[in-house]
Amino acid sequence: MRTERKVTKLETVVNVVCDICGKGEISGIPCRRCEICGRDICFHHQIEDPRVMDWGDYPDYICTECYVIGKPYMEKIREEEKRSEGVIDKLEKQWEEAALGNAQKG
Ligand SMILES: [Zn+2]
Ligand SMILES: [Zn+2]
Repeated sequence: MRTERKVTKLETVVNVVCDICGKGEISGIPCRRCEICGRDICFHHQIEDPRVMDWGDYPDYICTECYVIGKPYMEKIREEEKRSEGVIDKLEKQWEEAALGNAQKG
């Protein structure tokens, strides 16, 4: 025997709003999660993660607040990168000189 009973399906709709300003989706762009603090952030409060050099098709995002906090650190990181570049250049030159010295011996 088969009887029919009408039931109401429960569906969960997740509404994500920005943890900074409280806005949801803005012109079709949904809230994303900040890669650093993990808060949900709207289109106006998301910035492409400057730590990632190659974003590919799906860039990571951080919030504007983490970006501001990160500014002095990013400057230091850039300085360190420049410094290590200089060290690497020097080592490569030393290598070349050593190799040339070796070649002239024979
Ligand atoms: Zn926002
Ligand atoms: Zn953040």
